[in-house]
Amino acid sequence: MVKNHHLAKSINDAAWYKFREWLEYFGNIYEVPVIAVEPKNTSQNCSNCGEKVSKTLSTRTHKCPHCGDQADRDVSVAPPQEANAAINILKTGLKQLSTTPAGEVTPLERLVSV
Ligand SMILES: [Zn+2]
Repeated sequence: MVKNHHLAKSINDAAWYKFREWLEYFGNIYEVPVIAVEPKNTSQNCSNCGEKVSKTLSTRTHKCPHCGDQADRDVSVAPPQEANAAINILKTGLKQLSTTPAGEVTPLERLVSV
């Protein structure tokens, strides 16, 4: 059914929605914040200097001409080095966690106190 282009997007959207529901469910149980991050340009932007480094989908290594940073694009194949996109997603999520209105305990503070 995913090969049917009319249904494929709906099926994939439903799968991602269910996946997110499960993450939030278990995050709630284990008191771990689950933050949805806008994925746009997480592979393209340099996680070190923030400059956009355009690359095709087949380009699997991030090489920044601005700062010289080099990393795997999306998935780290040489741990402990983190992938460029993973670092961008982590930074964005942590930034979102730290922007809770004044006076409230942020999810990040709650996580650190565990
Ligand atoms: Zn850079």
